[in-house]
Amino acid sequence: MSTATHDLVVRAARALTPDGERAVEVGVTDGRIAAVVPLGTGLAGAEVLELAEDEVLLPGLVDSHVHVNEPGRTEWEGFATATRAAAAGGVTTIVDMPLNSLPPTTSVANLEVKKQRAVDQAFVDVGFWGGAVPGNTADLRPLHDAGVFGFKCFLADSGVPEFGHLETDELRTDLAELTAFGGLLIVHAEDPGTLEDAPQEPGRAYKDFLASRPAKAESTAIAALIDAARTTGGRAHVLHLSDADSLPMIAAARAEGVRLTVETCPHYLSLDADHVPDGATAYKCCPPIREQDNQDRLWQGLRDGLIDIVVTDHSPATAELKQPASGDFAEAWGGVASLQLGLAVVWTEARRRGVPLAQVVGWMSAGPAALVGLERKGGIAVGKDADLAVFAPDATFVVDPTRLHHKNPVTPYAGRDLTGVVRRTLLRGRDVGDEPAGTLLRRGEA
Ligand SMILES: [Zn+2]
Repeated sequence: MSTATHDLVVRAARALTPDGERAVEVGVTDGRIAAVVPLGTGLAGAEVLELAEDEVLLPGLVDSHVHVNEPGRTEWEGFATATRAAAAGGVTTIVDMPLNSLPPTTSVANLEVKKQRAVDQAFVDVGFWGGAVPGNTADLRPLHDAGVFGFKCFLADSGVPEFGHLETDELRTDLAELTAFGGLLIVHAEDPGTLEDAPQEPGRAYKDFLASRPAKAESTAIAALIDAARTTGGRAHVLHLSDADSLPMIAAARAEGVRLTVETCPHYLSLDADHVPDGATAYKCCPPIREQDNQDRLWQGLRDGLIDIVVTDHSPATAELKQPASGDFAEAWGGVASLQLGLAVVWTEARRRGVPLAQVVGWMSAGPAALVGLERKGGIAVGKDADLAVFAPDATFVVDPTRLHHKNPVTPYAGRDLTGVVRRTLLRGRDVGDEPAGTLLRRGEA
């Protein structure tokens, strides 16, 4: 074994490693994990970080579903605020969605605009998704070569005019195009026809909003996606699954060899329709938060391995766009911004259900890293980036919106008791501090 002095040595009686929970010393050199050895070995470090008895060392979380919105809608969210919120929540890598910024990330030129804005402001590492919209099939390959991690498309209205949705034939065309170079298509799966047929009753009643986005809209769109993935052989990913009724169909498609992965989000795993107060538009997101029984079955889907990962879909807007005065769900912008709270929200519920911390962290760190092919992220193992979080799994706190770092701290979790506190976050072996030290990631290079 090397007797060299590491830049940093972390000593933890509890650390979540790929081999399970271990008592370890982690040696960090040049921002990478150079050694993971049993606690007591006595690695030498220029700096030493010793975890407290109530703390667990986690790999930094990877959140592959974040809307930063800068430039263009920077008043909704920006790179500095989003990545600070990420760090405060133990998230050390985010992958930014291609829409709600202006321009959207639908061409290489637009990607460059986004990167220029992100480069000096990122407190954690940032990667980018590209967008697949009507008419940009020829941009997909150049975007892939420029390092985006895959492509997002909508099957129904995205909510913003500059990011159109794909019809079924375009979905197939783009998936075939991506398959030619091994690209990944990530899909907002709600079916526009089903949404059109649903009752559209405006107002403050959550049940009316829920009825306007029925589960069938998700299952119909997912069926179309499975069909496209089957015929093209392409690799597809279902974003923010809310509808648990779709799980048997997903299971059958996967058993048959269709290349399909699935994510869900903290709000679908912790909130339920019966407890959304009328007019409480902070809870509005699409697809919507459904009933308790649905939530229970999403948890079962995770435990069964049918849902691969949990990511936040951090989708902020200005407080005004949430229409707090009228409380009208139809008018309010949809999206729950929970980058800073995701781990605590999921862990609080997981704990209640007897799901171990290691499993939660797998869904939120190694899982998303694997989805996007970030080989140096998502694990406490030699060769990986020393992205780490110090987490107190039994400590509790009450959500105070004024302590959230994202730009418009509207949250459905205000006042909620949560368990699990992120006490410290390290990016490549250094505390995330006052200077933005994040880097921009390219597919295949990290
Ligand atoms: Zn989203």
